[in-house]
Amino acid sequence: MSTFATGTKSISLSEYGLTNENVHYQLSPQELHQRTLDANLGREAKSGALAVNTGEFTGRAPQDRFIVKDALTEDKVWWGPVNKPFDAGKFDALYDKVIAYLNDKELFVRDSFVCADQKYRMGVRVINEYPWSNHFAYNMFIRPSAEELSEFEADWTVVNAPGFLANPEEDGTRQHNFAILNFSRKMVLIGGTGYTGEIKKSIFSALNFILPVFRDTLPMHCSANVGADGDTAIFFGLSGTGKTTLSTDPSRKLIGDDEHGWTAENTVFNFEGGCYAKVINLSGENEPEIYGAIKKGAILENVIMDDDGVVDFSDAQITQNTRVSYPIYHIENRQEPSIGENPKHIFFLTADAFGVLPPISRLTPAQAAYHFISGYTAKVAGTEAGVNEPVPSFSACFGAPFMPLHPTKYAEMLSKKMQETGANVWLVNTGWTGGPYGVGTRMKLKYTRAMIRAALSGALGLYTYDTYHIHSVFGVAQPRECPGVPTELLSPRTTWNDDKAYYDTAFKLSNAFRENFRKFESYANEEIRRGGPQRYAY
Ligand code: ATP
Ligand code: MN
Repeated sequence: MSTFATGTKSISLSEYGLTNENVHYQLSPQELHQRTLDANLGREAKSGALAVNTGEFTGRAPQDRFIVKDALTEDKVWWGPVNKPFDAGKFDALYDKVIAYLNDKELFVRDSFVCADQKYRMGVRVINEYPWSNHFAYNMFIRPSAEELSEFEADWTVVNAPGFLANPEEDGTRQHNFAILNFSRKMVLIGGTGYTGEIKKSIFSALNFILPVFRDTLPMHCSANVGADGDTAIFFGLSGTGKTTLSTDPSRKLIGDDEHGWTAENTVFNFEGGCYAKVINLSGENEPEIYGAIKKGAILENVIMDDDGVVDFSDAQITQNTRVSYPIYHIENRQEPSIGENPKHIFFLTADAFGVLPPISRLTPAQAAYHFISGYTAKVAGTEAGVNEPVPSFSACFGAPFMPLHPTKYAEMLSKKMQETGANVWLVNTGWTGGPYGVGTRMKLKYTRAMIRAALSGALGLYTYDTYHIHSVFGVAQPRECPGVPTELLSPRTTWNDDKAYYDTAFKLSNAFRENFRKFESYANEEIRRGGPQRYAY
């Protein structure tokens, strides 16, 4: 039997069926960086960061994500196009094939934790085909101390084989790539894709089942930070709406940028130990903390560099979804450990490409429940044939692709917590102003930051007619004034200079809300149903 050692520990992989002798256990990020360069799998950027290309996939593949349907999951998981069932026997067979494939490769194994709160901590072992994927696991998960490592036990294992291609007919996958969760075997099997986000989001999906079902804890697709008074704020939002950008705030300590749990003991904890930021159009001027985190130890994905290793952050020729991962200690102003108290403020971020939602508005508890279940943002459609129409995108709980349970399960938990704590809930449009995509412009980051600062400090005032105007279509309360923000920006209609066009577009969006909410209507009480838009087009 072969064992693989670091200074403090040796492990055996025979329980996985791996007889491979060529295994590197718990290499340092420096070693993984060097091995990536030596194997010609990456380049070093001028900043010192490692730059890799993730291959065919530069984003997640939600259609190829499955959950093994068996006695444990059958009655609990909300099966459908998001949570696609996978046969247990097929999983076992595919697992054996992947292990056979990995048995003659050089392998990289890493043990880490998820869940910053010790009480909820879970050991995750990641087995990688590539050194840079293992480096990603170092960056993103919680790094054990030497002492913790000596007692480490893996609760879950992620087997990550980007070079293995499935045969859909034989293996039961949709195509050659797959990410499959098996709750009974406590295992994630990833093949055919090198996109690193699959590794972190598969463990997130596992926690989104385990924590509410067994630990009375609400898992959330949100970022979190804490102010000087210990006041916690959380930011929900779909991809690209600003979770990472807005939680990385020099005046507040970062708890985490993507995944958190809200416990029954009135705490919020980060699941991870690192950040995974979008870098398209990143500038040191607008986002100095994230820019500064891109140094030795960080991994850039799918960016374009010149011969000197200088990154052109505006270049999207590989993908719009260029990324960097870095351990959270690359951000100076952070909370340690990554735990906060009950949030005082909850922000729902949405990038409204229709440009009709107010840049900031206050929600009643019923509106909060409605918007959480709806999970609205907008995508900007391709520019083919000059069509620039935004497409509304609804994703329950601002993270449906990662939620194995029915959305109302999470929504009920959140509503209860909001009621108990009296947290303030804000809807923030980080998207367009002055018109839809193609006509208007993206909200300036400095204004969004000023609005969030004002909400946090209480500068937006109490909920009265003098301080807020109720939006005639969406029913949300938009502040009349906000320090540091031009007043006309606060009312989306006044930024359009065309009332008819504004209302036509607003009605388009309110109708889309209504259409999307139909599937949840039977679960929502009358109050929550009234939390939706107030007016629709007929
Ligand atoms: P993911 O879930 O994919 O990690 P995210 O919610 O963390 O997504 P960010 O990485 O913060 O999203 O991406 C927001 C992007 O939008 C950044 O590139 C940021 O620079 C840009 N942006 C432009 N204007 C704004 C604004 N007003 N508020 C927030 N982000 C903005
Ligand atoms: Mn993010």
